[in-house]
Amino acid sequence: MLRMMRTVLRMKSRFDITRLVRSNIRELVPYASARDEFPGSASVYLDANENPFNAPLNRYPDPKQRRLKEEIARLKSQDPACLFLGNGSDEGIDLLFRVLCEPGRDNVITVDPTYGMYGVCAAVNDVERRSVLLREDFSLDPDAVTGAVDEYTRLIFLCSPNNPTSNSLDRRSLLRIIDTVQCMVVVDEAYVDFSREGGLLPVLPGKKNLVVLQTFSKAWGLAGVRLGMLFAQRELIGYLTAVKYPYNISALTLDRVLESLREPAAMERWVDLILKERELLAERLGSLPFVQRIYPSDANFLLVKMDDSRRVYRYLMERGIIVRDRSSVPLCAGCLRITVGTGKENGLLLKALNAYV
Ligand SMILES: *Cc1c(COP(=O)(O)O)cnc(C)c1O
Repeated sequence: MLRMMRTVLRMKSRFDITRLVRSNIRELVPYASARDEFPGSASVYLDANENPFNAPLNRYPDPKQRRLKEEIARLKSQDPACLFLGNGSDEGIDLLFRVLCEPGRDNVITVDPTYGMYGVCAAVNDVERRSVLLREDFSLDPDAVTGAVDEYTRLIFLCSPNNPTSNSLDRRSLLRIIDTVQCMVVVDEAYVDFSREGGLLPVLPGKKNLVVLQTFSKAWGLAGVRLGMLFAQRELIGYLTAVKYPYNISALTLDRVLESLREPAAMERWVDLILKERELLAERLGSLPFVQRIYPSDANFLLVKMDDSRRVYRYLMERGIIVRDRSSVPLCAGCLRITVGTGKENGLLLKALNAYV
């Protein structure tokens, strides 16, 4: 046992990202944009075939997003070189496949039920997806995950707090997986701002095979601008950056997110309000006779098990209230996923459900 442990430790200390990266990506010479070559500030720009009129949007945005990365890195107490910005978290997820997974050969692991995008990206990139189930109580079984790994496993996706089950995954179990495997472990923290538990960013510098995903789409209220954050060791960030579209983040997005970052108190206020509304909504939903169970939530939505959930779903839809039907997802039979809205929106939902017979 001790010898096995030592072997694992030795392997970990030799963890080398370049062995996981596809050979074509390792050898890739990235597109160099005009603004890459001259990052400074000049008085006459005649290098990028831009229109000289219609300032400021006539100019290409910074392909390296230097200013925004610095601001985000400061807020999150991370090194800006360890941050990749994408067109939503979805771009980061897709690029992880394109950088690390050889189509038709490699595999990834998802722990289901979970966010659908991991499976979609696996399919698009022709990469096998191995599904491991959460336990019945939605807790993570770390041995089941590590047991599904083989030499061709490149990525393990763990979502915490998890969508659609709404619970946080046990931190020690997450760390156990990260410390045991030789592939990259992606912890998707899209809902971490709503969670009582902090995420894994504080341990990122010591974990070479950890990727943490966060987003401006949920707590920051900016789903429309499309900005996702991917934190990882700088070598991996370098590969993702080499593969991305040169100008993947628009000038409008850069400006708008910088503006929101100047007022983080607004985000914190929204989170407080949403958490209060979540408790109220859970209590009221719990008193409905056809509701069987409301799962404990660490996010901005509730997973609710009820009698004849599909009928309830259609009933609400006919009244202009849209929730998410998750009843066909493994372990979620009879469940609807309900986002916490404003007090007024939640009131309208409850009013409709109280009139349901
Ligand atoms: C909403 C959500 C995201 C956010 O994706 P974006 O592309 O950043 O909008 C990421 N992961 C999970 C699990 C989500 O539910």
